[in-house]
Amino acid sequence: MKYDYLIVGSGLFGSIFAYEAKRRGKKVLVIDKRNHIAGNIYTKNIEGINVHMYGAHIFHTSNKEIWDYINKFAEFNNYVNSPIAIYKDELYNLPFNMNTFSKLWNIKTPDEAKRKIKEQISKLNIKDPQNLEEQALSLVGKDVYIKLIKGYTEKQWGRDCRKLPAFIIKRLPLRFTYDNNYFNDRYQGIPIGGYTQIIEKMLAGIEVKINCESKEFIKNNFDIASKIIYTGSIDEYFNYKLGVLEYRMIKFEHEKIDINNYQGNAVVNYTEKEIPYTRIIEHKHFEYGTQPVTIISKEYSSEWGVGKERYYPINIDRNNIFYSEYKKLSDKEENIIFGGRLGEYKYYDMDEVIDEALKCVNKEFKNECKDFGCYT
Ligand code: UDP
Repeated sequence: MKYDYLIVGSGLFGSIFAYEAKRRGKKVLVIDKRNHIAGNIYTKNIEGINVHMYGAHIFHTSNKEIWDYINKFAEFNNYVNSPIAIYKDELYNLPFNMNTFSKLWNIKTPDEAKRKIKEQISKLNIKDPQNLEEQALSLVGKDVYIKLIKGYTEKQWGRDCRKLPAFIIKRLPLRFTYDNNYFNDRYQGIPIGGYTQIIEKMLAGIEVKINCESKEFIKNNFDIASKIIYTGSIDEYFNYKLGVLEYRMIKFEHEKIDINNYQGNAVVNYTEKEIPYTRIIEHKHFEYGTQPVTIISKEYSSEWGVGKERYYPINIDRNNIFYSEYKKLSDKEENIIFGGRLGEYKYYDMDEVIDEALKCVNKEFKNECKDFGCYT
């Protein structure tokens, strides 16, 4: 065997594993089907602006160990995500907080906001929320749901809110302070200079093949490595033999505009159904850019099909059941580990991927903790 590990996919999971394996003296080969490394956190410098080519990635975590880990590979700025939502020309702050409520109802105090929400919730009589619509309505009431959730969510997922799992909406904070920070996490920021450098540093000194389809490669080189770390979609590995796991994909319309400030904020969500895109990202604001031009990306969420890029796993029952069957199959395979958003079919944030990758490293190299440290 030429390598100890063949790593399929150079995103965060695969690259962390590669980096940690190399540190421990293992021989590693990383392959990626795209013409670049870094998976969906790939950023490209265009006109001095780091463009998030596969959608906005804002790093946030409450785990100090993960924060310290990622900071070894880049310096992070103090960016705080505070998206704006536009609904039929009305402008609101996100996440749902006192700024949102005062604009919606012309009120001032947390008490007034709570009363208003309670009044709306009590009319609905939802005991045990079974889906995203019921969950949202029972958390924030009808006005917020109609103006800021329903249209956006149905565009984003291409499904009625009653057919979507409740957990998706629990990602968003609800608070009764005038605080527009989208996340509740202790640590947050954007790597100064973009995300690609993080992966470049992780993969420094490691052999990497891009434009390399794993199926073909593994078929022709079945004995190249003792073990495979597979971060592609688990159903594809098994030739979809139990069925296809569904995803949502995003089509981006990137545009350079000859003005220095287009929308005054990195993230502006369009929450009504009639506008076909979900949000517009203005990348320079992630790094407080002062370039004379700007680059914006409109995000159009669309149905995914085999062969297209995967973005969001759709964790509805049908897909979760298929996934658990694939998981059983994968547990029977001795020399392969599945990881990451696609390998584990989970709507992971970046910090969760790092957590999973470091746990996987711990498990794989349990005897070497003494010399190389161990993730706790
Ligand atoms: N969401 C919403 N209105 C918004 C933004 C988000 O209803 O203006 C809901 C929507 O269902 C979305 C979920 O919250 O899928 C999670 O949003 P988040 O911004 O965390 O998604 P991501 O950044 O991963 O696309």
